[in-house]
Amino acid sequence: MPKQDDTPLMQQWREAKARHPDAILFFRVGDFYEMFFEDAEEGARLLGLTLTARNNGGAADVPLAGVPARARDEYVQRLLRLGRRVAICEQVEDPAEAKGIVRREVVETVTPGVVLADALLAERRNNYVAALCLASLGGGQGEGEGARGGAGSSSGGEEVLALAVADISTGELVALHVEPGALEAELARFEPAELLLPASWEGRTVPEAAGAFVTTRPDWLFDRAVAEEELRRRFRVHTLEGLGFQEGDDGLLMALGALVAYVAEVQPAGITHLKPPRIERPGRTMALDAMTRRNLELVEPLRPDLAGRGARAATLLDVLDETVTAMGARMLRRWLLAPLLVPEEIWRRQAAVAALVEHAPLRRELRAELGQVRDLERLAGKVAAARITPRELRALGASLAVLPRLREAVSRHAAADGLALETAGAPAPPEAPAGPAAGGLARSAGPLLTALAGGLDCLEDVRATIERALADDPPATLAEGGIIREGYDAELDELRDARDGGKEFIASLQARERQRTGIGSLKVGYNKVFGYYLEVTRANLDRVPPDYERRQTLANAERYVTAELKEWEAKVLGAEERIAELEARLFAELRREVAAHVARLQNAAERVATLDVLAALAHVAERRGYVRPEVHTGYRLEVRGGRHPVVETMMPREEFIPNDVVLDEDARIMVLTGPNMAGKSTLLRQVGLIQLMAQIGSFVPAQSARLPVADRIFTRVGASDNLVHGQSTFMVEMSETAAILNGATRRSLVLLDEIGRGTATYDGVSIAWAVTEYLHELIGAKTIFATHYHELTQLSETLPALFNCNVAVREVGDEVVFLRRLEPGGADRSYGIQVGRLAGLPAAVVERAREILHELEGAHAVAARAPEARGRKERSSREQLSLFQGEHPALGRLRRLQIEFLTPLQAMNLLAELQAMVRDEPAG
Ligand code: ADP
Ligand code: MG
Repeated sequence: MPKQDDTPLMQQWREAKARHPDAILFFRVGDFYEMFFEDAEEGARLLGLTLTARNNGGAADVPLAGVPARARDEYVQRLLRLGRRVAICEQVEDPAEAKGIVRREVVETVTPGVVLADALLAERRNNYVAALCLASLGGGQGEGEGARGGAGSSSGGEEVLALAVADISTGELVALHVEPGALEAELARFEPAELLLPASWEGRTVPEAAGAFVTTRPDWLFDRAVAEEELRRRFRVHTLEGLGFQEGDDGLLMALGALVAYVAEVQPAGITHLKPPRIERPGRTMALDAMTRRNLELVEPLRPDLAGRGARAATLLDVLDETVTAMGARMLRRWLLAPLLVPEEIWRRQAAVAALVEHAPLRRELRAELGQVRDLERLAGKVAAARITPRELRALGASLAVLPRLREAVSRHAAADGLALETAGAPAPPEAPAGPAAGGLARSAGPLLTALAGGLDCLEDVRATIERALADDPPATLAEGGIIREGYDAELDELRDARDGGKEFIASLQARERQRTGIGSLKVGYNKVFGYYLEVTRANLDRVPPDYERRQTLANAERYVTAELKEWEAKVLGAEERIAELEARLFAELRREVAAHVARLQNAAERVATLDVLAALAHVAERRGYVRPEVHTGYRLEVRGGRHPVVETMMPREEFIPNDVVLDEDARIMVLTGPNMAGKSTLLRQVGLIQLMAQIGSFVPAQSARLPVADRIFTRVGASDNLVHGQSTFMVEMSETAAILNGATRRSLVLLDEIGRGTATYDGVSIAWAVTEYLHELIGAKTIFATHYHELTQLSETLPALFNCNVAVREVGDEVVFLRRLEPGGADRSYGIQVGRLAGLPAAVVERAREILHELEGAHAVAARAPEARGRKERSSREQLSLFQGEHPALGRLRRLQIEFLTPLQAMNLLAELQAMVRDEPAG
């Protein structure tokens, strides 16, 4: 570390720190980033560094901890994961030229949500920062603007919220209104790494946003007027209508205002690549709540500890992600977490996927070309943020060269086909709505593929600019030189000639001096400290001419310079320095020139990403034998030969047994029974996944499928099946069930797996029963309810649109064989004893359990028949439940018993207990 006067340095630190009180300050000193005082203490603790002290010119020692500059990203990463922000304070002038202390500035603050460096970003997923506030303040619009906080003191808990979301690495900016009940789902969809909240929200509960770090901002930053001004200036529009804002969007403006201000604050170098906000109106995409996203294992496995072993797919995303670009991968993930609700949009994607399935040569050609495209989206961001390296800019240029080939491939295949690619089977899409913010591809007219490729701006001018200026193989960093192509800049060429001429002259000097002095071993050399020199070995020192000037003495030789050598050296080094300066300047100019086209780059990147996703979906469809589902606006769901897209990849192709599922108005609730391990959960999830896949425009794993557009997909997995978070208390289960009952509509698909299991049997059955009735009578949603409560199969007697199915097993001798086949009717028994046997219960226990079961079944059959005598019609469900009342307590115990968890000794004791109960008090 350079020795510098402590006091001015610490003053500089204090000033920087004062402006960034809530960040850890990484203060550049030479080859290190130093932390001082409380930052040092915290940093040392969080990063496991040694805390030392710096002598502060007599005053008390200053606590100090440092990290090597080259390892910066790694340490920053760790602090971000802990939810800390890191202000990077750099030396902004060359220490060699500094008069006095080197000037330092905070060049950026890295926060969990605002990250630009590749090393800190996941390539294949977005990194979002979000801002949330109340959408309205109840005061009406157009009043004095002033500091209208985003929070206000609100009356009820039912106000609509406004959410703004940005990915700074790609420039994406989104704003949407959120109903309070949908907040969790929307947050789950974006998974923001950081969430900005108005300070006055302190104490208000915000759903835990999958690990988002909360940053509070003063209320006045959530200001509508400031936002309006900022957005108008930034996106150069006269009115906000130009950006698609409408009356009533004040909340969106407030959230956007706070978000943009925050990002601009932590990225002082500018964020010119931020795109105009895309305003999402309700009704375009489906909200997927966190539990559904989790239970269907869309992007994350339920058991991360088990996943990732081997190269196996664990999530739907794993199976579908055949994209070949990082931006395609990010887009697919976004699609998956926001299925479409508008049939026309679904059909449009489907038609494009279908075209690429049918035209395999086109698909292959596109995928091969796409593979040559680098991450244009993030490269565009880097150009704008002045972070791009020469090599990356070159890669950007090379990526642009692929664009004309993509466009040409689509039009060539379309022409060869003699007709539009995307017609087959697509219901005619109506006029595309031309919204004011219709910059997005989704809204452009015509078939998607042709529109995407046909309208692709190939940025040939930008590519030409890059290629004209940049050397063929530029270095990774600016400092290395050799960035600019020969012939691009006359001055640079001259300087290079001078430098090279000088070097040549110096090289030729060796021969001439050898001749002049007669020293055959004389050498010309160069080192950083002494520059160019002539080296003479000790044995030849007597022949050294008088004009040689000694520079350095080595063990075996002496090094000299001559006036001539010095003169040429000055020329070479001078040229070298000016070359570096000039190259840096030319590169910066080039970068700015390219940055002026950032919006075009982003638009092309979005098209390329979309092509990539469509081609990937087509590729998967072919590879895995998916079909195009017929998506309609009616009610009926009909899947023939459906498979679970993820489970089927885990076994040889023919081993997965396909199943048919039909849900319609008159048969909309399926009660699915069958023993453990039969395949209930798999079937249930497979229906949900197929529905969801259809709504992102994908083909589906089935022989054929007709699917309605679902407004929501709800999945609830009961306590005992939900091993994941260890938090599966009954309370959680019930509140999740409540959320379903409160959110589902007739158009929803509800998947319930073993609900009511987290409590005693009577409670559990009763709740499951009541939930089913409610769904049947009041909601009318298509429902599959997998349960091991056989009692529920009786519901089919009173609820006309409810029917029973079971996943078949066959008994072969004492064994159960899983057929994995869905059959009509309830399972006649649970096969718990057989499964217990498979699990290794001692034969005596199995045998005895079988006897007991036999007796119980007899008893139960008698009890069950009793109310039937009164006639089905008048039987209310309440009366049905009374089946379980008034029976012998021993029966209850037995019913609740989980034999597979008993040790033989426990089983014996229990049997004795049961016997005692029955003997004391004979059953009546
Ligand atoms: P349940 O919910 O009835 O206890 P699961 O759905 O968890 O059963 O299925 C257990 C296992 O059976 C799954 O992990 C899978 O390996 C296998 N399985 C399920 N359905 C099928 C099927 N249709 N074809 C082949 N194997 C299946
Ligand atoms: Mg199950």
